[in-house]
Amino acid sequence: MAPGVTPPTTAPKLETGPVHPGRVRVLKPGSPSSPAGPVVYWMFRDQRSRDNWALLYAAHLAARSAAPVAVAFNLFHPRFLGAHARQLAFMLRSLRLLRRRLHSLGLPFFLLRGDPAHTLPALLRRLAASTLVADFSPLRPVRAAVADICDRVGPEVAVHQVDAHNVVPVWAASDKLEYSAKTIRPKIHRLLPEYLVEFPELPLPAVPWTADDPPEIDWGELIAEVLRIPELGGDLGVREAGEVPEIEWCEPGEDPAMEVLMGNKDGFLTRRLKNYETDRNDPLKPKGSSGLSPYLHFGQISAQRCALEAQAHRKSCPKSVDAFLEELLVRRELADNFCYYQPQYDSLQGAWEWARKTLMDHSADEREHLYTKEQLEQARTADPLWNASQLEMVHYGKMHGFMRMYWAKKILEWTSSPEEALSIAIYLNDKYEIDGRDPNGYVGCMWSICGIHDQGWKERPVFGKIRYMNYAGCKRKFNVDVYIAYVKRLVTETKKRKSESPSSLIPKHSKIIKSE
Ligand code: FAD
Repeated sequence: MAPGVTPPTTAPKLETGPVHPGRVRVLKPGSPSSPAGPVVYWMFRDQRSRDNWALLYAAHLAARSAAPVAVAFNLFHPRFLGAHARQLAFMLRSLRLLRRRLHSLGLPFFLLRGDPAHTLPALLRRLAASTLVADFSPLRPVRAAVADICDRVGPEVAVHQVDAHNVVPVWAASDKLEYSAKTIRPKIHRLLPEYLVEFPELPLPAVPWTADDPPEIDWGELIAEVLRIPELGGDLGVREAGEVPEIEWCEPGEDPAMEVLMGNKDGFLTRRLKNYETDRNDPLKPKGSSGLSPYLHFGQISAQRCALEAQAHRKSCPKSVDAFLEELLVRRELADNFCYYQPQYDSLQGAWEWARKTLMDHSADEREHLYTKEQLEQARTADPLWNASQLEMVHYGKMHGFMRMYWAKKILEWTSSPEEALSIAIYLNDKYEIDGRDPNGYVGCMWSICGIHDQGWKERPVFGKIRYMNYAGCKRKFNVDVYIAYVKRLVTETKKRKSESPSSLIPKHSKIIKSE
C-alpha cells in the first residue's frame, strides 16, 4: 500500500440499512453510552438530494437512533484548490436550489465557511451531534480535513464515511494502486451486480428538527461575492473576476443535470446515445459525448443513476452503452483509484519508474518550440489547433475530450521539463475547466504527460517512450480547420453575448458546426 494511505477499515458488522456495508467506513467510533444526538451529513463531493448513498445512510442512522438529521456544507477558505468564479458560482447556484429542496424534505442545511477542521467540530459541538457522516474524496486537502476533524471532535462523536461518488466504492474496487484500465476493469465488473442497484426513496426524517434553524443565507450576496473576488495571479492581463467568468451554456442543479442525461429535447440517453461509440472522440461533434462532466464533478448527478439509466438502452445500442459505461465507471473509477493510492497523484514522482526514467533520459532534448506559461495561457503558440483548444477551454469552460489529450501532450513538447509541463497543464486545467480540480483531471494530465495507465511506445525525442500525438495525426482524424473556425465563432459569440448582456444565456451546445 502506498505511504500515507489510510488502510480501509470497513466494519463488517455495521448495520447500514439500505446502504451496502462495503460503501461505509467507520473512521472513528463514537461512545456507545452517549445520548442519541443529531446525525450531521457533511456533504462535500456529492452535492445532491437524490440518489445519494451518504444522505440515505445519514437518514438511516438518524431513524435508527430516533435522532434528527441535518446537512452541512463547508465553503473552504481559502478557496478549495484555487476555485475561480466560474466553478464557485456554478456550485453555489446549485446549492441554493439544493437547500430549498432539502428544506422541503424537512432537512436543515447549514452553510459553513472556513477551515472544515474548525467549522465542522464547532457545529457538531453546538448541535450536540452524535455522528458525522462524511462524503469521500481521494484528494489530499479533503483527506487531511477529514483526518483533522476526527482528531478534533469529542470522544462521543462517531465519524463515518460513505463513498457516494463511485458506483463501486474505491476501497471495495481494489486495495491497491492499479496499473491500468485492464487491471481494474474485471474487478469493477465483478462487483457491479452488488453495487449497481436501484436507490431507495429518501425517507422523511423520523424525528423533526427542533433545534435552532440554520442561519439564513443571502445567496445573492454570496454569489455576487465570489463573482467579485479578484482572481489570483491572473496571467491574461485582466486581474479581476472577469478573467474566469461563469459559463452560461450549462445550467447548474440536479434537475438540469437529469435533463442533460435524459431530457426529451436534447438529453444524452434520449437523443444522442446511439452515436456515442463513434462520435465521442470527434472534436467536430461537441454533442457526441454526454456533456455530464460538470454535473458529475460537483456531484449534482449520481454516476450510478447515469449507469442505471444507460443500461436500460442496452438493447437498442449496446456498443454505445458499453463505451459510455467504460468511461463513466472504469476510467472514472480508475482515476479515483490512482489519486487514492498514489498520494503524489499530481507530480512526476507519482509516475511509474519506466516513465520517469524515459522522461528524464529525454529532458535535455532540444525542443522545436519553448513557450512560457503566459504564452500558453494566452494561446500564443505557432500551432493554431492547439491555440483553438486552449481558447475553447478559456472561453467556453470545457475543452473537447479528444483535444485534451493533444493539448496536454503538446505542453510536454513545448516546455523545458516534464515537471514544468505537468504543473502548467494542471494549473490551466484547474483554472479554466468547469469540471477541473477533479481526479479525472489529475489523471488526464498524468496520462498525457507521464504515461500513467498507458504503456511504453516507440522512443522519440522529448517524449521518450510516452505516447506521442501530433498535428498530422489530428488532420487525418478530423478537419482541423473546421474545429479552429468553430472555436473562433464560439469565442466571438461568447464575448459578444457577455458584452451585450452579461447574464444572457447562450444556447446549449451552440449549433455553430453546420455539419451536425
Ligand atoms: P463522456 O465521454 O460523456 O464521459 C462520461 C463521463 O465519464 C465523463 O463525464 C467523466 O466523468 C467520465 N470520463 C470520460 N472520459 C474519462 C477519462 N478519460 N478519464 C476519467 N473519466 C472519464 N475529466 C474531468 O471530469 N475533469 C477534468 O478536469 C478532466 N481533465 C482532463 C485533462 C486531460 C489532459 C485529459 C486527457 C482528460 C481529462 N478529463 C477530465 C477526462 C475527459 O476528457 C472528460 O471527462 C470528458 O471530456 C468530459 O466530457 P463528457 O462528460 O462529455 O464525457
